[in-house]
Amino acid sequence: MRRRSINRVTAFVLSAVILLFSLSSCDGFPFFTGSLTEGKLVCHYLDIGQGDSIFIELPNNKTMLIDSGENYHGAGIITYIKSTGHDKIDYLVGTHPHSDHIGSLAYIVRNFEIGEVYLPKVSTNSKVYEDLLKALKNKKLTAKSGKAGVNIIDDSDKNLQADIIAPVKLDKENLNNSSIIIKMTFEKTSFLFTGDAEKSELASVKSDLSADVLKVGHHGSSTSTTKDFLKKVNPKIAVISCGAGNDYGHPHKNTLKLLKQADCEVHRTDREGTVSVTSDGRDYEVKTGLSSIARAK
Ligand SMILES: [Zn+2]
Repeated sequence: MRRRSINRVTAFVLSAVILLFSLSSCDGFPFFTGSLTEGKLVCHYLDIGQGDSIFIELPNNKTMLIDSGENYHGAGIITYIKSTGHDKIDYLVGTHPHSDHIGSLAYIVRNFEIGEVYLPKVSTNSKVYEDLLKALKNKKLTAKSGKAGVNIIDDSDKNLQADIIAPVKLDKENLNNSSIIIKMTFEKTSFLFTGDAEKSELASVKSDLSADVLKVGHHGSSTSTTKDFLKKVNPKIAVISCGAGNDYGHPHKNTLKLLKQADCEVHRTDREGTVSVTSDGRDYEVKTGLSSIARAK
């Protein structure tokens, strides 16, 4: 009797193992893959207070970081990235050399494995910018020039593409208008990352601006989003990255009005913490209230 029951258990375990091995050979089955998000694109709009920092898990298991907020968020950003199971930033982008965007890049370059780096070809004499250049040099990394026409990712296997569509022309007086703008497409879904580009830079873009998910320009400032721009993008989801009770009054009420008129779903890091948008290539899933880097301090 006892022996028979052991045999039954053995038979059950064996059949379960055989079933798992046969299923694991199926393409895309969730067992035995490297990451829970493999095959999906997960875009994390990190709550770093007033500023921008966007971490993207790509469907080919690579990663991108666009901006890093002020210079005291580096450790928090690295902890967040590690919590997703990644230990490398394959593509690092500093949209423009203002401290609320590149502030922590030097720390991240010094303390994390970095692949390619993209910066616009404008310089400034701020300490955070000089620190970043020094950190890149010490690590023997050379920043590529981020300008319209540069292709960052062209992965036809995953139907994944990331192109820099601006700056078309550099504005050395107003660095916001030299912001790197990236359009990313994954199968039938698309994302637009605008940095702090203001009206004149947004109007100068010659490429197709249409995107399902828009990172609203310049923290929702009235100097950025226009009705015409929103018409061209036609977003379903808009994410505003700004700090709670910030001194600039971001987002501006007019921007919120325009987004409402454009009939898109609006999310804000100042109210909802870190926001993530996951794409499986067709549909989106939005999560809010994820680990906040600003509020952890
Ligand atoms: Zn900014």
